[in-house]
Amino acid sequence: MATGKYCPRCGFRVDDFYFCPACGHNLRLRAKPAPSPPNPFVAAVLNFIFLGAGYLYMRKRLKLGVGLLFVFFLSLLGVITMQLENAGIGLLILAIADAALSLTLAIDAYETAKLSFSS
Ligand SMILES: [Zn+2]
Repeated sequence: MATGKYCPRCGFRVDDFYFCPACGHNLRLRAKPAPSPPNPFVAAVLNFIFLGAGYLYMRKRLKLGVGLLFVFFLSLLGVITMQLENAGIGLLILAIADAALSLTLAIDAYETAKLSFSS
């Protein structure tokens, strides 16, 4: 297995150079590290604690992640409102959160179905 780096433009072996000695290509421009793959454990913990945050962390199913996170905070707000302010308003917020959850899952189902049959 080759461990050296090669110039992306001309293929010359460049190792630790900043510029390719063969063609002058600026290697630091391409030196941006590829985004590291998400840690599955972190993704799971994030989703466990903050509904949907794990999806945002993975950059997958972003609409589902944003939707779930919104539902999560709205539910929290609903429960807090029920306890501290007004049970009726709290219930109303929880009902809105529930509707938002349904909508989020509907959108995710739609997009998942579309993706699975388009490829
Ligand atoms: Zn080169």
